Amino acid sequence: QRTPIIAGNWKMHKTTEEAREFAHAVRSLTPKENMDTVICAPFTSLDALVQELEGYPIAVGAQNMHWEESGAYTGEISPGMLTSLGVQYVIIGHSERREYFAETDETVNRKAKAAFAHGLTPIVCVGENVEQREGGKTKEWVREQVLRAVEGLSSEQAKQLVIAYEPIWAIGTGKSSSAEDAQDVIAFIRSTVEDGFDAQVAAQVRIQYGGSVKPDNIGTYMEQPDIDGALVGGASLTPESFLKLLEGA
Ligand code: 13P
Repeated sequence: QRTPIIAGNWKMHKTTEEAREFAHAVRSLTPKENMDTVICAPFTSLDALVQELEGYPIAVGAQNMHWEESGAYTGEISPGMLTSLGVQYVIIGHSERREYFAETDETVNRKAKAAFAHGLTPIVCVGENVEQREGGKTKEWVREQVLRAVEGLSSEQAKQLVIAYEPIWAIGTGKSSSAEDAQDVIAFIRSTVEDGFDAQVAAQVRIQYGGSVKPDNIGTYMEQPDIDGALVGGASLTPESFLKLLEGA
């Protein structure tokens, strides 16, 4: 009964004008029954996207935020600033933020809590690097990441959480995980959520796969029993490819 969720992550791409053009081009979208669609854009394009997509079945998400409401945090953006624009989702703890901007499991947890406190749906990213994968440490690693990210969330919050399993070696490399391997880790993440909460929460939490998802492989992920959608980088950047992804999902 979980609603699939396909989210584009534009990363550091597109000016506001380019974002507007994209929005115009995808407005032709005929919504699939029972599917959530999101575009996670740079802060500078969020306002324009919310306006351009009003009334269309595509929600807008941010790619990061601070956990505090306001204060002396030069360069940061607060949850309330996002919700005041009409933003509904926020990516938390993407591996690029963990690697290049010193995000930790602790900041991820604070941000996840802050997102819920403001009515934003967090998309919390987890995933192993190539050494961990080759050393057989994938499950141990993602279990720790998941449990630390959800610490202190209520069951009601945890049910609404979106988790994105993104193996780092698959991001932007064209080397996507096989659907079977992704299913295996994602089923394990679901059982980890059950350990942290209960079976009901685990049955409701949505878990995406991310890492070199393209229009021609998205279908293989979507048919897996525990994979509820995808977090898509490169293939979300053109309207043609984004629309094809949605068709293939
Ligand atoms: P690619 O789809 O470009 O591999 O990026 C995946 C990703 O990091 C989405 O958050």
